[in-house]
Amino acid sequence: MYYSRKRLTSDLPEEMTMIWSCTNEKCNGWMRDNFVFLAQPKCAQCNSFMEKGEKMLPVLANTSPNQTKN
Ligand SMILES: [Zn+2]
Repeated sequence: MYYSRKRLTSDLPEEMTMIWSCTNEKCNGWMRDNFVFLAQPKCAQCNSFMEKGEKMLPVLANTSPNQTKN
């Protein structure tokens, strides 16, 4: 039974998504790996280094023009 799990977002499917999260424990900055084009990104909020991780996120429609190359 999954009824106990409230869904605040609409009916978007979620998947484990590669992300970068800020290494500064006082900062909760993170970004999707899809949007990172550097080998070692820095946090946009505090400029700390970021580390790779995973997070459950709603699946994004792939609208990035850079990813439609054939
Ligand atoms: Zn940060």
